[in-house]
Amino acid sequence: MTVFDRLESEVQSYARSFPVIFEKAEGAWLTDTDGKRYLDFLAGAGSLNYGHNHPVLQEKLIDYIKSNGITHGLDMHTKAKAAFLNAMESKVLKPRNMDYKIQFTGPTGTNAVEAALKLARRVKGRETVISFTNGFHGVTLGALAITGNEHHRGAAGVSLDNAVAVPFDGYMGDGADTTEYLDRVLGDNSSGIALPAAIIVETVQGEGGLNVADFDWLRKLEQVCRKHDILLIVDDIQAGCGRTGTFFSFEPAGIKPDMVTLSKSLSAYGLPLAVVLIKPEYDVWHPGEHNGTFRGNNHAFVTAAAALDHFWSDDKFASDIRDKADFLGKRLEQIAERYGDGKIYRKGRGLMQGICFESGEVASKVTKECFAHNLVIETSGPEDEVVKCLVPLIISKEDLAHGLDILEMATAKAMDKEIVAPKAAAE
Ligand SMILES: *Cc1c(COP(=O)(O)O)cnc(C)c1O
Repeated sequence: MTVFDRLESEVQSYARSFPVIFEKAEGAWLTDTDGKRYLDFLAGAGSLNYGHNHPVLQEKLIDYIKSNGITHGLDMHTKAKAAFLNAMESKVLKPRNMDYKIQFTGPTGTNAVEAALKLARRVKGRETVISFTNGFHGVTLGALAITGNEHHRGAAGVSLDNAVAVPFDGYMGDGADTTEYLDRVLGDNSSGIALPAAIIVETVQGEGGLNVADFDWLRKLEQVCRKHDILLIVDDIQAGCGRTGTFFSFEPAGIKPDMVTLSKSLSAYGLPLAVVLIKPEYDVWHPGEHNGTFRGNNHAFVTAAAALDHFWSDDKFASDIRDKADFLGKRLEQIAERYGDGKIYRKGRGLMQGICFESGEVASKVTKECFAHNLVIETSGPEDEVVKCLVPLIISKEDLAHGLDILEMATAKAMDKEIVAPKAAAE
């Protein structure tokens, strides 16, 4: 019996899908204790956009540690934090004409969400927050209340209050614009839906199955918020930090959220770090009201600042992401067309795309077969029916193509089809 079976709680999840012991990792590749290599199409559920142990970031971090740089600093001012804030200002906010204050929360995504909800309720003096069907925002009680997934909600053990879920873009089919529904119920004081403090949205629903909000829909959502005096929060924890081809996922829609939550890949190195961007006029916190011991992960500041400098000083990295996203989308469409009988299809946006299968059972066959061929890849969606390619953004075209060959082979097998291009079957 392994130590994991003896001691680790039953709550473990990803470990069940990939039952080996990982030891090392570099770029897009993981290595287990037997020296076997695995291509990583999961990337820490989107926390490793720049891959594992990126050499530029690693060197900066090692130098910092060796020089006795501050590791833990509560929320005190440190040189590393100043460098991170300066990089956020010069590489992210200023070039995009964005004016936000930055709140450091406890280092998990769900803590940033809790802070944003708390602040929105304070600003508007209202209790309710509107969220969307299939949304995922974290598993602490406040964030869980605005998360759709019943498996997660069911674990709360208490009622999840002060939240109302409404249909996301496309939820009612192609013809229905769900912002019209929102506008209608919010303008009707007998609708039964109380005026909320905020509406929180993911532009691409990461855990909810790669549902994509149309840019036009996002603009209409923003208008609904303005019209009814509601704050707009974009949860960019998974879709942000370059994942969809721009630093923030909402940039192409041209909207200006009142708050933005960021975490997952913000540290750029898999280190815990989370922030809320707040329009200055809404930064009405009193000192220490929302605190946390680990709001000053200085190692994360070092790697985050280095990544902003290295990857976001010009448009090269972003255009490279878009190029790979294009390639990924075309390959996924081809796979769906070849083996799907019209029953499976490509979903998502940027390097946040996947294939939607008929059922979670089929999708799970696909990911299991992938892992048998050394590809780490997971599912998402209400029935775990979407196989999700969450590749590190720095992945080479060759590795991306290699992983997709494996995915194609696994899809053919799960759909009981002959492989059209039997390249990966030889692996
Ligand atoms: C992962 C995620 C969260 C929660 O982050 P944790 O660090 O797991 O608490 C919140 N929102 C979105 C969109 C996420 O993908």
